[in-house]
Amino acid sequence: MVKAIVGANWGDEGKGKITDMLAQDSDIVIRFQGGANAGHTIINNYGKFALHTLPSGVFNDNTTSIIGNGVALNIPVLFNELKEVESQGVPAPKLLISDRAQIVMPYHVLFDQYEEERLGGKSFGSTKSGIAPFYSDKYAKIGFQVNELFDEEYLKEKIANVCTQKNVLLEHLYHKPAIDEEELFNTLMEYKEMVAPYVCDVSAYLDQAIKEGKNILLEGQLGSLKDPDHGIYPMVTSSSTLAAYGAIGAGIPPYEIKKVITVVKAYSSAVGAGAFVSEIFGEEADELRRRGGDGGEYGATTGRPRRMGWFDIPASKYGCRMQGATDVAFTVLDVLGYLDEIPVCVGYEIDGEITTDFPTTRKLEKAKPVLEVLPGWKSDIRGITKYEDLPENCRKYVEFVEEKLGYPITLISNGPGRDEIIYRGFEK
Ligand code: GDP
Repeated sequence: MVKAIVGANWGDEGKGKITDMLAQDSDIVIRFQGGANAGHTIINNYGKFALHTLPSGVFNDNTTSIIGNGVALNIPVLFNELKEVESQGVPAPKLLISDRAQIVMPYHVLFDQYEEERLGGKSFGSTKSGIAPFYSDKYAKIGFQVNELFDEEYLKEKIANVCTQKNVLLEHLYHKPAIDEEELFNTLMEYKEMVAPYVCDVSAYLDQAIKEGKNILLEGQLGSLKDPDHGIYPMVTSSSTLAAYGAIGAGIPPYEIKKVITVVKAYSSAVGAGAFVSEIFGEEADELRRRGGDGGEYGATTGRPRRMGWFDIPASKYGCRMQGATDVAFTVLDVLGYLDEIPVCVGYEIDGEITTDFPTTRKLEKAKPVLEVLPGWKSDIRGITKYEDLPENCRKYVEFVEEKLGYPITLISNGPGRDEIIYRGFEK
């Protein structure tokens, strides 16, 4: 069976933890979109890891980890991560890389930096990992697929063609050094050596795996609200964050995705610019940021402090709908245990009207939060394994959210560890 694990919010919902947990029973874990621009934090028996490119299945001996064709593959970043994981005692993971995955080129990272510099204060808050230039080139049909590394003549010709175009921009728009064709070719030859043992016709491999009834997880990055079509455009990422894209980014039929486990965070956090209606500031935000996640809400890739907010029903309900949630995994609930009262954003007021629907960005920027306050439970819920054992006000919070979302909360995460999970009707 194929399951997708995706985010309903702005990312950082705790997908890595849920994937790591479910990966224990999975034969295959696949990354299907995004690149090294965001990270998952995972804590298990081997230690604490920040994965940016490697699928979260790498900690299980019997799991094959796959980089799907939809990923922005930064080869040196991937191999550094592999080294790091192995240096912390994790056995060498079984890794496959799609022959159709495209490569983040050194100049993609540079163009990302140069463009942010050019935009100055009006920048998109990019992580400068080259993701937007990468996907622009992919759809402009001047990207480099992994399989092309193995055809040197073709590669040289393509490099010359791409450099002609890129160097005009470098010289005249950014006033930066031009790309050296030979140096780029040599870099790509190094990349070839690195990936060669792992390259695979992934869609054929998965077709066979599905026929054999293997358990397959699609691992999403970021969340619904960062989707380029359905998110808070233009403050979005450059590849689709939706489960539906899992079929494309891995190369499987859409009807094979039987479960969409949508990770929803018990409060809100976001990185980068963009409308964030339930955002809180000052000491209130600092305290939630300090107590949030595992050791504070700071970006796994960038270390940037995350913006904080109360739980946002319109955004999360929409996020679940766009994912097609079959299950909601409600995470970091333990963090809220310090609050006397917990505000929840139950609607948006836009031009004097109240709505629970999530609008387009132009309207979203005018939205003011409508808050409802729920009583806190004022206790530490870590270590609890049964739903009935949660304090009454905590259960009320969960049930309030579930009712407003309209999707079943079947998993509750009450701590960063792999086993800190409460099953609530989740079927494996
Ligand atoms: P991802 O990109 O969706 O995987 O999210 P991140 O890894 O960036 O952020 C989630 C953070 O919350 C990490 O530091 C996790 O270790 C932590 N985390 C995940 N689930 C829980 C939970 O239920 N409780 C607490 N306290 N931390 C959690």
